[in-house]
Amino acid sequence: MARYTRPVCRLCRRNGMKLFLKGSRCDTPKCGFERRESPPGQQLHRRLKPTDYGLHLREKQKVKHYYGVLERQFRRYFAMAERSKGNTGNVLMAILERRLDNVVHRLGFGLSRRQARQVINHGHITVNGQRVDVPSYLVRPGDVIRVKNRAKSLDMVRASLAEYDRSVPDYLSVAEGDIPEGIVARYPEPEDISIPIETQLIVELCSR
Ligand code: SF4
Repeated sequence: MARYTRPVCRLCRRNGMKLFLKGSRCDTPKCGFERRESPPGQQLHRRLKPTDYGLHLREKQKVKHYYGVLERQFRRYFAMAERSKGNTGNVLMAILERRLDNVVHRLGFGLSRRQARQVINHGHITVNGQRVDVPSYLVRPGDVIRVKNRAKSLDMVRASLAEYDRSVPDYLSVAEGDIPEGIVARYPEPEDISIPIETQLIVELCSR
């Protein structure tokens, strides 16, 4: 699968906001955006005022980079959101939020979405008792996301949990027990989305 391989702190500087792509480092003074907020690249001839199209595009890019999805997959999610009932922008964000890599990260089993993807790819996660190694898997209410019951998986996830200090969103609940486990309580709502985004701009851009 194609993926972004360049330094991720550039993406935060390009988008003008912290996208929390590097796990615990993002909350330390070593954060690249804290140290330098200016966009990457030569600044000399840069246009100061973005165009209308630029504003719309930037909003879409923020979401793509935040959830770690590429254009084709993003377009697929947008088409799903357009077909569904309800506000297209809210549905789009809910779909992205339901990705297994995002859920694994928000439960604290991976310090970043990128790390969560690796945890899933390497077969450390089960959904409803079945191993799922597809990061784009979309969870549903009632799904039980559990770490595989073997030492290697448990050690890796417990190390993440020990460092993870963000709150778990309300649409997920964490089960008590020896083996880390989370349950999807309901579909994500707009207030569960942790990135400030003007979804209307994305809808206007993608509907053109
Ligand atoms: Fe972004 Fe994290 Fe890098 Fe800071 S450390 S610039 S939040 S990826």
